[in-house]
Amino acid sequence: MSPLKDISYIINELAEDRESYFNAIAPPIMQSSNFAFKSIAALRTAFEDEMGGYLYSRGLNPTGDILRKKLAALDQAEDCLVFGSGAAAIFAGVLANVKAGDHIVSVKSPYTWAQKMFDVILPRFGITTTYVDGTDTKNFEAALKPYTTLIYLESPNSWTFAIQDLKEVVALAKAHNIVTMIDNSYCTPIYQRPIALGIDLSMQTATKYISGHSDTLGGVLSGSHIMIKKIFDSEYLNVGSGISPFNAWLLLRGLRTLPARLERITVTTKKVLEFLKTHPKIDKVLFPLDASFPQYQLARTQMDGACGLMTITLKNGTMESITRFCESLRHFFIAVSWGGHESLVIPKCAGLLPGDFDKDNIEHQYIRIYTGLEEPTYLIDDLNQALNGI
Ligand SMILES: *Cc1c(COP(=O)(O)O)cnc(C)c1O
Repeated sequence: MSPLKDISYIINELAEDRESYFNAIAPPIMQSSNFAFKSIAALRTAFEDEMGGYLYSRGLNPTGDILRKKLAALDQAEDCLVFGSGAAAIFAGVLANVKAGDHIVSVKSPYTWAQKMFDVILPRFGITTTYVDGTDTKNFEAALKPYTTLIYLESPNSWTFAIQDLKEVVALAKAHNIVTMIDNSYCTPIYQRPIALGIDLSMQTATKYISGHSDTLGGVLSGSHIMIKKIFDSEYLNVGSGISPFNAWLLLRGLRTLPARLERITVTTKKVLEFLKTHPKIDKVLFPLDASFPQYQLARTQMDGACGLMTITLKNGTMESITRFCESLRHFFIAVSWGGHESLVIPKCAGLLPGDFDKDNIEHQYIRIYTGLEEPTYLIDDLNQALNGI
């Protein structure tokens, strides 16, 4: 993939109108619900195209708009919408592309709340979903029905890092006139730009790397002007799940350091990975850009990088040894999420009752590690003492 051009310009200058706010470097938080008009005719124009200006902050807001324009440029998309969470962005992107009776083909084990939408909410409206192993594009083709309207991807998956061949899936979808949507949260547009590969809708949570400080939620949905305007005029305004001015401001602040943080985390991840791969208590380490990863070659062709998350398994891992390992870590918080300054650990078995743990199911043994911005040796020493203690 060609590296992202103009990244410094996008992050520092694009869409900022500093002369209009006292040449402040940091933009103001435009904490206003509504905007006034000089004439009824001007208000009427705003009603006709709410995306053309500022009317009411459930739609667009000046602080959110600076963020929106930067994120669209990073995604190399014509436009984007910023939501109050990644889950809200998924909801809007999917809902906009299905109607009663339609069918979705989704990669298996997508993000929890995408799956809950497919399994619990959409069936109430007669919309069905088929899950496929996305490591082979033929599986998508085999699952298509005459009434399939959406192919939903997540590449890489945030636990297994399984990836889909995006160019192949795009070619298949275009041949059948099907919309493609991807969860690009793991990579962010710094490391993967699905729109440039032909994907219609690229979604990412902004809660993770864009924020970078574990202090706000947000979500991004990028695509063509036509697709984004359609979603704005319907799902976005109707559900009212747009980003608030203050949270948009926090995300703008996070965005300033996104490339620097990813660069740092990438270096740390490699060091932690090399340490874990040689530790005698470790069975397997999963990381998409490690040469041992089954889809390493494909990952290299469509991703510019990978960092932060990796999944490990312990030799002869039991619920007890996994629990002891996680609880022995002194500098990794036991918590969901990732992308912040702080390192984290979460075992898959946290979502299982002890009786349901199957030691022969490798996924039950998964322990996901996120390396944050700490010193690599600080983290490695901690992992070492915890591993040696089990
Ligand atoms: C966290 C996450 C989401 C959802 O984002 P929120 O901002 O928490 O709603 C979606 N996809 C992946 C892969 C995630 O990790």
